Amino acid sequence: MQELLERPSVRSTTNDVLSRIGNTPLIRLHRIATCLPAGVELYAKAEHLNPGGSVKDRAALSMIRDAKRSGRLRPGRTLLDATSGNTGIAYAMIGASCGFPVTVCLPKNASSERKRILRSYGAEIIGTDPTQATDAAQRLARDLAQKYPGTYVYLNQYNNEANWRAHYDGTGPEIWRQTAGRITHFVTGLGTTGTFVGTSRRLKEYNPQLRAVSVQPASPLHGIEGLKHLPTAIVPGIYDATLVDEELAVETEAAQEMTARLAREEGLLVGTSSGANVFAAIRLARTLPRDSVVVTILCDSGERYLSDRSWDCQQ
Ligand code: PMP
Repeated sequence: MQELLERPSVRSTTNDVLSRIGNTPLIRLHRIATCLPAGVELYAKAEHLNPGGSVKDRAALSMIRDAKRSGRLRPGRTLLDATSGNTGIAYAMIGASCGFPVTVCLPKNASSERKRILRSYGAEIIGTDPTQATDAAQRLARDLAQKYPGTYVYLNQYNNEANWRAHYDGTGPEIWRQTAGRITHFVTGLGTTGTFVGTSRRLKEYNPQLRAVSVQPASPLHGIEGLKHLPTAIVPGIYDATLVDEELAVETEAAQEMTARLAREEGLLVGTSSGANVFAAIRLARTLPRDSVVVTILCDSGERYLSDRSWDCQQ
């Protein structure tokens, strides 16, 4: 476990699974972006191509390395956290690769693929009240950690600085490099808010004129897995509202429709939060002047939603 976790970076010169996290491609969206004004470019960072299938591989690796360095994660202890699924999958993949057990508190309505993937990696799942999304999962994880302090290491991704740091150190610099410093707008949805906070913070350091645009579901009861409706949810401790230049709300149906279009028109099979991100990014990009470069995130793979995608099954 020691050796794998202490490898300095996420470059691909080594062959273990952890070395494949990060350095994802930046893909230009063409066919769904024909409606954009001349000279406006739209790109998507393909985080679904991480080995665990989501953007959360980065945060999970960063938080695990931090827990290891601080001595909290050591042999005999079980990693515990609340998750909407993807962070849990990333923990479970890394746990399997490094040899430590993982327990996740997960809303019971998480897709069956997510649960099967978690179990395939050997993780334990504790189901929580689906009506309270990840808020109930967070409360349960906190209670378990308090009750069994010698058993669990609670990583608490919603309040863990190593979460946003993964994007400050990785996603932000990668996007800057991949656009040769031309990015003008960064658009992404809020879950734990780690992707938005870490990436925007870094990009604004490179270019203080950069506009950071957050995306949220339009209503509290929504079907955009992975995203939070912050006005009615527990606001993550790592959230930094001062980074937000503009907020965009997306309806579930619009996110689903864009998710289906990404598969059929761009060949990108991704999840609904990616559809929400691209929908919001296009809405913004339509209003921008020439030479604007908009970047958004493809958060996870669509394969883990296939059992739920009744909305795009028509021929
Ligand atoms: N989309 C999906 C599918 C996710 O699982 C998550 C993580 N909850 C996000 C988006 C948001 O990422 P973050 O936690 O970094 O805000």
